[in-house]
Amino acid sequence: MLAAAAGVDWSRLGERALCDACLGRLFGKAGHGFTNPERGRPVRSAHGLPASPCSLCGGLLDEVPKFADLVAAKLEPWEVRTFLIGSRVDPELAAKEEALWVELGLASGEPVKNEVNREVGKLVTAKTGKAVDLRRPDVAAIVDTQFDVVDLEVAPLFLYGRYRKLSREIPQTRWPCRRCRGKGCDHCGGKGKMYETSVEEVVAAEVMKQTDGTGHALHGMGREDVDALMLGNGRPFVLEVSQPRRRTVDLTMVAGAVNRSGVVEVEGLRSSDRDEVVALKADRADKTYRARIRFAEAVDAAKVKEGLAALARARIAQRTPVRVSHRRADAVRERSVKGAELLAADGREAEVLLTAEAGTYVKEALHGDGGRTVPSLAGILGVPCEVLALDVMRIHDVG
Ligand SMILES: [Zn+2]
Ligand SMILES: [Zn+2]
Repeated sequence: MLAAAAGVDWSRLGERALCDACLGRLFGKAGHGFTNPERGRPVRSAHGLPASPCSLCGGLLDEVPKFADLVAAKLEPWEVRTFLIGSRVDPELAAKEEALWVELGLASGEPVKNEVNREVGKLVTAKTGKAVDLRRPDVAAIVDTQFDVVDLEVAPLFLYGRYRKLSREIPQTRWPCRRCRGKGCDHCGGKGKMYETSVEEVVAAEVMKQTDGTGHALHGMGREDVDALMLGNGRPFVLEVSQPRRRTVDLTMVAGAVNRSGVVEVEGLRSSDRDEVVALKADRADKTYRARIRFAEAVDAAKVKEGLAALARARIAQRTPVRVSHRRADAVRERSVKGAELLAADGREAEVLLTAEAGTYVKEALHGDGGRTVPSLAGILGVPCEVLALDVMRIHDVG
């Protein structure tokens, strides 16, 4: 079975003993389908090698069942389906092990850490029925083999959905007070935040109740202004919950609680993952907006229509707007307006529908931002205007 063992000069071990597992691990990549003790035993009997006390692991591998008990107890209060075992072993042991490979002229040894991780994993699966997932486990259990301590790294829970925002008073995400950083001060009226609530907090409330997580974050496919409504098909988002005790979420109940809030609605809730957060952040979907504008003087509806037609399909150059210049570097960027039409006109006021490329400063495309956006509706018409209200009507990420 282990031809590699035949060519080794075992006399180099001298008086040192090796347990079956440590012996077998020297050939850890040979004889697939065997455990390390199963590999070690025949080598020992063929060469008459002593087994104990093991000069390498010092009996560490006999402790695997104890480590598995510790992990199983630690996992008990957490609802997890999959796990991964990691371990910290005495760095001296790892160094000794590598030195032995060199001494015996072996290239295929398996580090002791790998064996501890794998064998503890097998026992934990047998005890708990939970499966090992090496790629994306619900929890990683890190066993400190010197101090018999287990640390858990619980993976966040991710929920995808689309939201509509029905209030001009709330932001997309929780907005902590800059002055007190959340502690509460005069500036924020003791709340620690600048707005009573947010889409994030409304969506998270019921999820936090069900999962008993320690914190949350809302990742949106872009964001609308605080005073803008988000209507139509809603905006895709992923809610991330830190350290959830429970991972089974009653999504119907969550949707019900959110939809009763009167300020936010959600649909299409389902489970998600970190990859989808990355995809959301990279999305460049066009968006359709409805804007109510007021001109400095009455403008003929036919003339507004003409102006919008000229704006539609235009390539516009936008210098960083004054309203965001405190948080973004001054730069000029180009965006396309892909459609613009007049919905209603009444003297000085008009309602328009405008579809634009992701990242367009839409208010500025209408009022021109004092000449910083060119062309703009105000610029084309030669009549200043202000944007009274702006709502997102559709996000064109699907169909
Ligand atoms: Zn050993
Ligand atoms: Zn404050």
